Amino acid sequence: MKAAILEDGRTDLDIQEISVDGVGPNEVLIRTVAAGLCHSDLHHLDGMFEIPRPSVLGHESAGVVEEVGSGVEGFAPGDHVITCLATFCGKCDRCLGGRSYLCESAPSARAAGERPRLHRNGAELHQFLNVSSFSEMLLVHESAVVRIDERMPLDLAALIGCGVTTGLGAVFNKAQVRPGQSVAVLGCGGIGLSAIQGARIAGATEIIAVDLNPSKLEVAMELGATHAVVSEPNGNLADQIRDAIGRGVDHSLEAVGAVATATAAFECLGVGGTATIVGLMPGGRTFPVQGRMLLDDRKLQGSYMGTENFRLAMPKYVEMYLQGKLNLEGMVSSRIALEDVNRGFDAMRKGEALRDLIIFDG
Ligand SMILES: [Zn+2]
Ligand SMILES: [Zn+2]
Repeated sequence: MKAAILEDGRTDLDIQEISVDGVGPNEVLIRTVAAGLCHSDLHHLDGMFEIPRPSVLGHESAGVVEEVGSGVEGFAPGDHVITCLATFCGKCDRCLGGRSYLCESAPSARAAGERPRLHRNGAELHQFLNVSSFSEMLLVHESAVVRIDERMPLDLAALIGCGVTTGLGAVFNKAQVRPGQSVAVLGCGGIGLSAIQGARIAGATEIIAVDLNPSKLEVAMELGATHAVVSEPNGNLADQIRDAIGRGVDHSLEAVGAVATATAAFECLGVGGTATIVGLMPGGRTFPVQGRMLLDDRKLQGSYMGTENFRLAMPKYVEMYLQGKLNLEGMVSSRIALEDVNRGFDAMRKGEALRDLIIFDG
């Protein structure tokens, strides 16, 4: 089968023939239908975060179950599924406390000494974030999978596997935006556009989309934003956001993972406002918080994987799509073949792409 491999010392992917092992206990083999290009893939591709190489990138995908291993319950060949990196054990304190997305002993790759799930001529290929979506077949732990309604188009379902769930969940479960509130969303990639839609669905009346790229803001307006702010490289972004509605916002959601946007996300808050950081910021990076601003009941918080177990969250988002509440097609900038994956990441580097979707032939 074909897969996109990240080799040592490279910042692009190589399409090669690889092999997938037989299905082991508690594993599910899936024929990949579609995989989204997520910013987290790009960060790892560009070396912002270290991962073992060679590895098969990708972590946002949907497909059809081919085979299930011993002990797997609730899945059968033919099921339509979405994958998620947030595997969980169901037994640790965090899982039992309702935070399975932060599981302390999340099932990941097979143990050392066992045959690897993915290999090339017998040598191990590392599985990225428990999934490795840029591959014609996916072999994952059963806790990385959720079954979905078969009426859901599987190409668009892939988007729910990471960006959509992260953005919507941050709005619904962490920020808990209420009807009539004002929301600023900093960064209009896949997560930001999802957060904008979440704010619209939650009933926010002022939704300010912020990005460097005016064409992304046009899409944001189509998906529910009421105001658009082009961030000026040397301007005060927080002031720009405040100026858009004449006061500070009730909520801000930061979907970039940069110091400047995280700082602005807090500084654009009105009294009692809440900033929710969703963007992936490299370890060790800090941003300033004006202590005085906290005293007016403002709050700074983070959200990971939508702050909810994905098996609860994703079927709800599928239903929102099926009812016409969630616009997924509008978030897709292009559908590409696996061979075009590097072109997709180049567009993302330039800040041009919304969500590019790899569609597999099979
Ligand atoms: Zn992602
Ligand atoms: Zn756990």
